[in-house]
Amino acid sequence: MKLQRILLALFGAALLVIMLITAGAAFNAREEQRNYALSRESYQRLLLLEDLITTLFDAESSQRAYLITGDELFLQDHQTQRQRLQNYQRTLDQAAFPDEIDTSQVDELRNLIASRLEVMDAVVTIFRDQGTAAAADAVRSYTGKRLMDNIRDLSARISADERALLDDRALLAGTHASQLTLFLLAGALINFLLLAGAYMVTRKSTGQSRSLMRQLKQHSSEISAINQLSSSLQSCSTLAESASILEHFARQLFPHTTGGIYLMRSSRNLLQLAASWSDNNGSLTDPVEPHDCWALRLGKTYEIHDDSKQIRCRHLNEHAHSHLCIPLMAQSDIVGLLSIEVQAEGDINAIRERAELMGTHTSAALASVTLREALRQQSIRDPLTGLYNRRYLEESMERELLRARRTQGAMSVLMVDIDHFKQFNDSHGHQAGDVLLKEFAEYLRRQVRAEDIPCRYGGEEFLIAMPGTSKNEAIERAEALRQNMASLKVYFQGKTLPGVTASFGISSFPDHGEDRDALVRSADAALYRAKRAGRNRVMPAGEPVSDGAEAP
Ligand code: GH3
Ligand code: MG
Ligand code: MG
Repeated sequence: MKLQRILLALFGAALLVIMLITAGAAFNAREEQRNYALSRESYQRLLLLEDLITTLFDAESSQRAYLITGDELFLQDHQTQRQRLQNYQRTLDQAAFPDEIDTSQVDELRNLIASRLEVMDAVVTIFRDQGTAAAADAVRSYTGKRLMDNIRDLSARISADERALLDDRALLAGTHASQLTLFLLAGALINFLLLAGAYMVTRKSTGQSRSLMRQLKQHSSEISAINQLSSSLQSCSTLAESASILEHFARQLFPHTTGGIYLMRSSRNLLQLAASWSDNNGSLTDPVEPHDCWALRLGKTYEIHDDSKQIRCRHLNEHAHSHLCIPLMAQSDIVGLLSIEVQAEGDINAIRERAELMGTHTSAALASVTLREALRQQSIRDPLTGLYNRRYLEESMERELLRARRTQGAMSVLMVDIDHFKQFNDSHGHQAGDVLLKEFAEYLRRQVRAEDIPCRYGGEEFLIAMPGTSKNEAIERAEALRQNMASLKVYFQGKTLPGVTASFGISSFPDHGEDRDALVRSADAALYRAKRAGRNRVMPAGEPVSDGAEAP
């Protein structure tokens, strides 16, 4: 009798510890959901800011094109950009900023944009009333350029503040993860001691207690695995990392099943298989469209039994056994899908419980990683070509220059501009122009070394930073790039587009400049000389080098 009472107390305590761990983890998951919601708002504001600035640049370039050509079509284009700009500004006016962001900067940005637009209008009026020369004088007064520089600096500062905020939140997620890990370890240790005690007592007691203990032990280890998974995910910074963690834990949690975890793509139209496991070489559909899964359509677990006449999700194989689909949701966003095929019908209840627990405790962490990855992609890549963007290049160049200075090494900068691209666009259409830009970017990516940093610098202009490359090597490599362009074949709507040529300007550290701006300026000036000399040629800062044929 006494033994039984001790046993009951031990089981009770173990159960209490499990409940405490679960409550702690649930609290942690809630915090992570909040963290995710705040990060998502930051992310949306960053995108908005980027759209706003890009549209302003577009408006500026169509206005400039109008001033150069006098073609009213450019003015219409300019008005369209202004309309878009207004929409973005309206959204910005409605956006709520957290205390950490200095909203006076946002107000200042608004004023600067308004001033810039006024200057643009004034120049257009001068152009109409007084002609090209007067408009050129007005442009030369540099008011517009100064304003634009200020706008760029200010938006960079606001973006930096938002990014710092996002970094802080990522750090916070890391701290939560470590706290959770500590909490779990302590809980697991106490539980182990309690269960060990119970085991000693059970040895002297009945078989019924033994099976109760087995269940308790199993339950405790499942919960501990789910919590470990959740804390590991919170400290992940890439999706690839999260996928391997998910796979590891899913194998442990769902033995004797075939299943997969799908994650929503940033385009939000497809879910891609991120992790999978199989007990019988079963295969899973990949990717899955959201409306093909009933769990995603209904926003809750969808269960199909072997013998039932229920409607099956379309992403399941015909011969699939009983099946569970569990949506992974954060803040009512679909983050992903957990899909499990269960071979033994009897297991389905226990598996559902575990899978739902796993879903609740991992969704927010997964959503945060997805967001971080999207932000990283968006902020370093040019969307059309997938090459690095200018901001990333500028940061990397600073880093490489520091290294070159420290090691007294070399570094070269190659500025490439496609010849007569405007004419190409005019003859074959803007879409064909886009395809060419993509193919050209791919060509550059293939040709450069792993340590080179190719980026889209703007329009049809590309810049390749070549760490460790001397002036002569850079000339050689640019010459190879120029000549191999003859092999670049671009297909568009079933036809091969005519070949294009490009001009190259090269500058090298330390000969042509000590800092980034000086190097880029020298390469740009060399490129300009290459164009003036007839295009389709390589020109190092300083002297002319190679001759090619004039571009078509
Ligand atoms: P040059 O040989 O002197 O470089 O002449 P160009 O025509 O190549 O240079 P210009 O600067 O006069 O024209 C650049 C053109 O590039 C005009 C613009 O419409 C086009 N462009 C810029 N960005 C894009 C883009 O993303 N897609 C497409 N299709 N065209 C673009
Ligand atoms: Mg060009
Ligand atoms: Mg150009």
